[in-house]
Amino acid sequence: MKEAVSEACELLRAGEIVALPTETVYGLAADAFNPDAVAKVFAAKERPSFDPLIVHIASRGDLKDVAIVPEDIAETVNKLTNAFWPGPLTLILPKHPDVPDLVTSGLPTVAVRQSAHPVFRAACKELGRPIAAPSANRFGRISPTSASAVVKELGGRIPLIVDAGACAEGVESTIISIEPREGKKPIFRLHRAGPITKEQLQEFGRVEKVREIKTDAPQAPGQLASHYAPLTPLILLEKPADFQPEEGKKYGLLSYTGEDESPYVALHDWEVIESLSPGSGKLAEAAIRLFFVMRQLDEAGLDAIIAEPVSETGLGVAIMDRLRRASAVE
Ligand code: AMP
Ligand code: MG
Repeated sequence: MKEAVSEACELLRAGEIVALPTETVYGLAADAFNPDAVAKVFAAKERPSFDPLIVHIASRGDLKDVAIVPEDIAETVNKLTNAFWPGPLTLILPKHPDVPDLVTSGLPTVAVRQSAHPVFRAACKELGRPIAAPSANRFGRISPTSASAVVKELGGRIPLIVDAGACAEGVESTIISIEPREGKKPIFRLHRAGPITKEQLQEFGRVEKVREIKTDAPQAPGQLASHYAPLTPLILLEKPADFQPEEGKKYGLLSYTGEDESPYVALHDWEVIESLSPGSGKLAEAAIRLFFVMRQLDEAGLDAIIAEPVSETGLGVAIMDRLRRASAVE
């Protein structure tokens, strides 16, 4: 793996882009301080330039190179990074002037995190510069949680994909911004639900939704209604009774446990059933398998994918967020 990391860094230094594993999903990496390289990320993904990228740093000490942490949230940032870095928590902070505008889509803020994946960490360290990396999929499509999924999304468009097996978390990082309050715990605005849960964050601040801001450039296009979507229509079926199959159409079920007793399994003679957490019903397993299972169903030649909801607590919030966006019509 050391050689693959060195090869990746050589390409990154030359202004190329490479796919690297992170603990959340596979990322499409570029030298964050090289705008030409960053432009290649947008081109390969067909990502609109209003959708900013997350910047990954090798160590907490490197935060000062990409962000300017205001004094009134410095203590909170320290606490959060102590608790959750390296790991799947992305902080939105005022940006350092050295970060190219292309990375942040012209926003005055930058999204930063330190990945816990040994390969990604090694690449950040060896490169000696921050790495801008969104998910290694085409814009709006299902995020890749394996190297073979990256091949399907971006094969032929990028010079290197480093394969380190399946991702440990399976859904993209939690994204928050921080609003200080005099004499009280800060407010954390949740821009994207992810592996670090509301329950975990609540120890350090009050978690609230992002305020609706009416502008053409969404603050976090992870929030775009239609995202993480298969090509096959996906219907999130909140209640089994709402299912109205059409004659002659092929339906697949994206089930939570896939057990015979599930009212969703019993509902229809499904063409195929894929389970997020076969048998056991564990949210962590469901998160890891979510995008893999969506891909399997997308390739099954169905007319529609029917998804069963999971309970909206802990990791279930991020899973339901992705299912809702996958089911949204553009
Ligand atoms: P991806 O890595 O493809 O999941 O995309 C990164 C996500 O981070 C996108 O949804 C971005 O909109 C979000 N993001 C990046 N920078 C910012 C920022 N400065 N403010 C708000 N959201 C951001
Ligand atoms: Mg993405």
